[in-house]
Amino acid sequence: MGKKKLARLDSLPDALRAGAEPGSFDLAGMDRAATPGIKDVATAADLRALLGDELADLQERLFAEGRTDGTRSVLLVIQGLDTAGKGGIVRHVAGMVDPQGLAIRSFGVPTPEEREHDFLWRIRKALPPAGRIGVFDRSHYEDVLVARVKNLVAPEVWEARYDEIVAFERELVASGTTIVKVALMVSHDEQHDRLAARLERPDKQWKYNPSDVDTRLLWDDYQEAYQAVLDRTSIPEAPWYVVPADSKDYARLAVTKLLLDALRTLDLGWPTVDYDVEVEKARLAATR
Ligand code: AMP
Ligand code: MG
Repeated sequence: MGKKKLARLDSLPDALRAGAEPGSFDLAGMDRAATPGIKDVATAADLRALLGDELADLQERLFAEGRTDGTRSVLLVIQGLDTAGKGGIVRHVAGMVDPQGLAIRSFGVPTPEEREHDFLWRIRKALPPAGRIGVFDRSHYEDVLVARVKNLVAPEVWEARYDEIVAFERELVASGTTIVKVALMVSHDEQHDRLAARLERPDKQWKYNPSDVDTRLLWDDYQEAYQAVLDRTSIPEAPWYVVPADSKDYARLAVTKLLLDALRTLDLGWPTVDYDVEVEKARLAATR
């Protein structure tokens, strides 16, 4: 296992990127058990481990930059229906770097206070500071997904949000945040099996919520709402990556690769220090 296999992974981002043109990505036609960019899914976990050192190194450089005069950050937005594997991405991908460098936030049903504000209010408060990798387990996209499917707001309200989200993300990118948006897509059958496993196993029952079945009954509506998200919010500055997620190992490898590529594009060095290294060496030597 080595360089050749890792080089092949370079085709993965293009294979997963949703087109910028509306309708150019067909969610319904997507094979959610596919593993674009790798030949054998059995190698996925090992390939991911091979990316770990570079991921951790670049994360440390970003953190160091933020500690000096840097303003840049990265934001990983994870979306997906129940059981799609969002939590596993946080554990197994974000878990590969120094926890100090992360700003992990999950978004549930808005609190009464959050409901009093614009939908982006709680999102803005949760953005990663300079030098950090922010991870959103669910995000502002819930406000055009669950809010749309369950009619939580009037159609003209959610309708206007696509453009608001695009404007918001453009503003974020312009201010130095690199956004990586991943939509984890499990098949209908796989979701059934994962929910069944949650009910079967005492160590997983806590993850099950009776409302998961209600949400599952709205599967087609959610697929339509996800298709609209891909059509209307995949912009060149912040494209969507649609990750087949029936294989957890594949999805984790794919997101690791996407995050790594985002860090690579930042061309991160090490900060130059504002003290005289030679003077400090001499001072230290004098303390022997
Ligand atoms: P979980 O991710 O399993 O902890 O579930 C979080 C729940 O919060 C999901 O059912 C989401 O649909 C729901 N949720 C997240 N954001 C919103 C939102 N903006 N409006 C309504 N429900 C939301
Ligand atoms: Mg849940």
